[in-house]
Amino acid sequence: MKCVICKTGDLQSQTVSVNLERQGALLVVQNVPARVCDSCGERYFEDDVAQQLLDTTQHTLQPGVSLDIRQYQKVA
Ligand SMILES: [Zn+2]
Repeated sequence: MKCVICKTGDLQSQTVSVNLERQGALLVVQNVPARVCDSCGERYFEDDVAQQLLDTTQHTLQPGVSLDIRQYQKVA
């Protein structure tokens, strides 16, 4: 599968760290499965992965929390 951004790179499956910012707080999720372009570095996430990152952000970043680091956990 070719990258849609640079149109030359190939997408490699790997795990990445994702930084999510919300209202000044930062959530870092590690070991997130993604496909990464080996040319420009663009990252692609499956819909269910992107949705879970969103859910994790909402559940994790409560008032008073400024930084949290989580491991990605696939929903059963
Ligand atoms: Zn690319």
